[in-house]
Amino acid sequence: MLKVTRLLVKYGERAALRDVSFEVPRGSILGVIGPNGAGKTTLIRALSGVLRPAAGSMQVDGRDLSAMSEQERARLVAVVPQARNLPPAFTGLEMVQLGRTPYLNWLGQLTPLDRQRVQRAMERARTLELADRRVGDLSGGEQQRLLLARALAQDAPLLLLDEPTTHLDLQYQISLLDAVSALVKQDGLTVVMTLHDLNLVSRYADRLCLLVEGQVAAAGTPDEVLDPDLLSRVYHVPLQRLQAGAGGRPVILPTVL
Ligand code: ATP
Repeated sequence: MLKVTRLLVKYGERAALRDVSFEVPRGSILGVIGPNGAGKTTLIRALSGVLRPAAGSMQVDGRDLSAMSEQERARLVAVVPQARNLPPAFTGLEMVQLGRTPYLNWLGQLTPLDRQRVQRAMERARTLELADRRVGDLSGGEQQRLLLARALAQDAPLLLLDEPTTHLDLQYQISLLDAVSALVKQDGLTVVMTLHDLNLVSRYADRLCLLVEGQVAAAGTPDEVLDPDLLSRVYHVPLQRLQAGAGGRPVILPTVL
């Protein structure tokens, strides 16, 4: 379980996240939504240890993330980041093997167990056919799938996904989110995922957190948070809600459509 309490994250003097608190139970997905600049990526970067919070705490299963060494944190938290400056000369397999870095011995050699975990992660992220390709030659979506495979190979109980579907076509959007959803159910992973697509997030997240200007504007089930009046105000565009999604989940559409 992830527990975030009164998080304050600043860039210089400017607070990008203020007083952000939430809990994500083991085996569930928290979807983080909000307009451009709301602080979604900042939250992912704070949780992954890239940014150090000015105040507040972040705990995984009662252990404070800020107090850990990088290696300890990497065994607990895996990230599929948005930014990509992937090493172009690496093969797909080598990219995914990077996910095993927190477990390597001082010689840096992969054990048979490491190789098995890499193979399994590549199967789950549907990247086996990319194993021998050069990363620099791959499309944005193929690179995105390798980033997911790398994160899965890390075997961490907390998985952070920052806009994971951005470069994916519809088939792979669904396939990626289905894979994440299956892992949450089978392995009890805890997931925090930012997504702009309100309808995908409504379909896959157990709970949502709506960030506006660095603060939690609403939190709860998709049904509670995807309120068309609230969202119309936050996104500055008239929105309507249909009860048409899988299992009666809400679907949000701009009224211009
Ligand atoms: P988007 O939907 O556009 O990706 P976001 O919700 O992920 O936005 P963040 O990237 O977390 O938003 O940015 C939150 C705020 O912090 C914004 O006002 C942004 O301009 C600011 N910010 C982000 N990165 C930096 C930085 N490196 N230095 C200074 N300010 C930053």
